[in-house]
Amino acid sequence: MIDLIVTGDNVIDRYNDYSGAGALYISDDKIESFEKQKADPDSVDKNARFIDAGDKIISPGLVDMHVHLREPGREDEETIITGCEAASAGGFTAVCCMPNTRPVIDSQEVVRFILSRSRFSSARVFVIGSISRDLDGKQLSEIGDMVDAGIVAITDDGKSVMNAQLMRNGMEYAGMFGIPVISHAEDMNLSKNGKVNEGYISTVLGIKGIPSIAEDIIVARDIYLSKFTNTPIHIAHISTKGSVNLVREAKEEGIIVTAEATPHHFSLTDELLRSFDTNLIVNPPIRTQADVDALHEGLKDGTIDCVASDHAPHSPEEKDVEFNQAPFGMLGLETSVGLSLTYLVHKGVLTIEGLLEKMTVNPTRILKLPYNGFQAGSLADVTIIDPDLEWIVDASKFRSKSRNSPYVGYKLRGKAVCTICNGKVVYSENSMG
Ligand SMILES: [Zn+2]
Repeated sequence: MIDLIVTGDNVIDRYNDYSGAGALYISDDKIESFEKQKADPDSVDKNARFIDAGDKIISPGLVDMHVHLREPGREDEETIITGCEAASAGGFTAVCCMPNTRPVIDSQEVVRFILSRSRFSSARVFVIGSISRDLDGKQLSEIGDMVDAGIVAITDDGKSVMNAQLMRNGMEYAGMFGIPVISHAEDMNLSKNGKVNEGYISTVLGIKGIPSIAEDIIVARDIYLSKFTNTPIHIAHISTKGSVNLVREAKEEGIIVTAEATPHHFSLTDELLRSFDTNLIVNPPIRTQADVDALHEGLKDGTIDCVASDHAPHSPEEKDVEFNQAPFGMLGLETSVGLSLTYLVHKGVLTIEGLLEKMTVNPTRILKLPYNGFQAGSLADVTIIDPDLEWIVDASKFRSKSRNSPYVGYKLRGKAVCTICNGKVVYSENSMG
């Protein structure tokens, strides 16, 4: 029995390299069939819900491979349920959650806890375990046990693994289990006490800076370790021109390195820090126009494989302080699609197909997620996007529990208007009926 039909003139399925008209016939949580022509509402089962997307884009569900859900530990800032609601509202059907929770995701028990909580959430949650126990950078986590429980990668994100021997061991384990290592690349001696990009602006504002070489040096080290251990390395939130060049050269050499960029790093520069908005305090810091240009170039030529938000909720008490005290991180799930369309697609950096590749097939390939696009038997996860819808970012509408976005008040062009996960409509704008 068909429960849901989604049809339109503008299906873009990067998994199967298809752009054109189409109709998805969904039965329960699976795609029963996909046809390369529009469905006629008069000739289909009247009991099925019928969604005609018109000329809006119908894509396989978007994946955000870098999200902080804060549960367990900081349920006042976000929970697995609210984080997934934010994901649904932002057009994402799957999120990968980072291990810097309390307790840290360093054992099978914590992985199982998160997976059991996410059974009732509106998006799929894939868990990323830590490299080191309690993120202490000293002893490896229970990597094998966590792989058995279902983790898709390991990282000490939020911190850099400063001990190259430990990173090497982590990569060797990850290689054995067939999962990638995600590098939060930051030399923590060079970045110590820094809050913003080191440069003209940090000097003008009198704030300790984080130099771009703090990132470049660890990216270079991790590329060498990847080559040495023959294990895939994924560079999280790449932010500097130097790192983009290193990843490009490593790819040319055949090293299995991939990278992601966040909307804030490709849309903002440190000039904005003159506003003293603590929501702009992120790690790595927002950089200069030259870095933004390099990110655009890297996104365009394929050096940067993915767009990921680094969604990092913080409570108002934490952020309502001076720059030097503010914790790193901003919200991302509900603005990622709008920012990517506004700053990449509408500015001519990427085609819409190019962007969707970085939000669907590329993260899926890197993390070996169970998605393969619109095919019979596939998971019924779908995102409908209106690429031209103009909207203003309004914090009062956020599904996230937190409000720490510097984009509040921004006018963006393009938005996810309907999200279907597991065959169910989990988010829908009024315009979608
Ligand atoms: Zn990070």
